[in-house]
Amino acid sequence: MNPDFDVVVIGGGPSGSTVASYLARAGLSVAVCESELFPRPHVGESLVPATTPVLVEIGVMDQIDAAGFPRKYGAAWTSAESRNVPHNGFTGLDHDFRAAEVQFVERNQPGVDRDYTYHVDRGRFDLILLKHAEEQGARVFNGVRVLGVDFDGDPEIVTVNCRMGPREFGLTARMVVDASGRQTTLGRQMKLKVSDPVFNQYAIHSWFEGLDRSELAVEPDKTEYIYVHFLPVEDSWVWQIPITDTITSVGVVTQKKRFAAANENREQFFWDMVGSRPDLLKALKKADQLRPFKTEGDYSYTMQEICGDRFVLIGDAARFVDPIFSSGVSVALNSARLAAKDIIAAHEAGDFGKKRFERFEAKIRTAVKNWYEFISIYYRLNVLFTAFVQDPRYRLDVLKMLQGDFYDGEESDTLRAMREIVTAVENDPDHLWHPYLGTLRAPSPWAQTAPETV
Ligand SMILES: Cc1cc2nc3c(=O)[nH]c(=O)nc-3n(C[C@H](O)[C@H](O)[C@H](O)COP(=O)(O)OP(=O)(O)OC[C@H]3O[C@@H](n4cnc5c(N)ncnc54)[C@H](O)[C@@H]3O)c2cc1C
Repeated sequence: MNPDFDVVVIGGGPSGSTVASYLARAGLSVAVCESELFPRPHVGESLVPATTPVLVEIGVMDQIDAAGFPRKYGAAWTSAESRNVPHNGFTGLDHDFRAAEVQFVERNQPGVDRDYTYHVDRGRFDLILLKHAEEQGARVFNGVRVLGVDFDGDPEIVTVNCRMGPREFGLTARMVVDASGRQTTLGRQMKLKVSDPVFNQYAIHSWFEGLDRSELAVEPDKTEYIYVHFLPVEDSWVWQIPITDTITSVGVVTQKKRFAAANENREQFFWDMVGSRPDLLKALKKADQLRPFKTEGDYSYTMQEICGDRFVLIGDAARFVDPIFSSGVSVALNSARLAAKDIIAAHEAGDFGKKRFERFEAKIRTAVKNWYEFISIYYRLNVLFTAFVQDPRYRLDVLKMLQGDFYDGEESDTLRAMREIVTAVENDPDHLWHPYLGTLRAPSPWAQTAPETV
């Protein structure tokens, strides 16, 4: 029997629409089932430059350029005050430990033709990508929720079971790609999902009109960076992301247990957390909140497998850690790119068995392992991150990671050096930086801890 499509994609977010564009451009018949009607709001608004080559390759960059999203030239981190942290042999700490910043122009990134990326209103950005997939030839089903995937019938075919309003129907295909984000449709069905043993972060966020970004900037003209404002509360920080000239997205990230312990409503919790930095509170109180607060919890997990016979998981459906370095959309786009390569080759070979997707799996696991380690080190000892990002010996290599340039497969010397210092600090209670250790300590390699399936 001939299936309805070569490939059915679950979810029309950035990973789903990108993989659909690649596949349609290569001549495969592909369907995307998206449960929502776009545009819809979504968290994850600040991109990194590693998104650019993918957007160029699928032919959508001109539309993104024309959309008028704020350009993002760099990133900055601020603290409440200098804590007289010992420099410990590091140099270049111009702002002491109160602030650090990087600009993408400092490092040429292979395949990236510009010194900026974008902050995006995800409602508009995701719509552009999904429409583009349709223009490339993908069939997009809006308002269609995938209920599950049946692998048990004809061994050559999968059936994707869908619901649209009251109507249920099946779509058949040679394989399925799960791009359903943190809903992890296939990971849940196949019981592949494993909770992260360390990270259990919680975020609460909204959009604000009229925040004077220059009040919080490291320099008055650097208002279009993403700002990460460290709070004087362990493992907690605030993002500040420009959405338009006047609208700013602001979110608090902290440990979930802190929210549970606070025993108060979520709005109060947001303002209490922001209030731990009086400079932030003062600036934000002068702005108008545009949307109700939204929360995101329990978001860190991995999957025991990210591919198998007739299936591949990409983007957040494959893995999610923590958004501190704005890596999510870049992982979504690059995992779609790498999966598409293997799927096109599988289609040419007429074989959609697991072995066909091993290159994809190896590359993504390496890239995400590096991201994970970088993020873990930040949480374990954030003064180390601030020192590394400013010290000329390490700066460009840290910038490489912040650009999302993670897919060449080689472990960076800087990451190794960071790991060694963290270990030394942890093992020596008299170390000058020992008092600055955070509480979230990821074992490395963390996967050996046999976490629970969820
Ligand atoms: C607090 C927080 C802050 C973040 N900040 C950033 C940031 O600054 N920068 C960044 O790059 N990333 C950030 N991220 C991560 C980013 O949101 C994600 O990595 C990114 O959206 C992943 O894209 P995706 O296409 O894989 O999934 P999604 O964008 O979630 O898209 C999945 C789509 O699938 C649809 N869907 C789900 N289930 C089904 C189903 N059963 N049937 C049909 N459709 C379905 C959904 O409606 C959705 O449209 C952040 C995440 C969090 C939690």
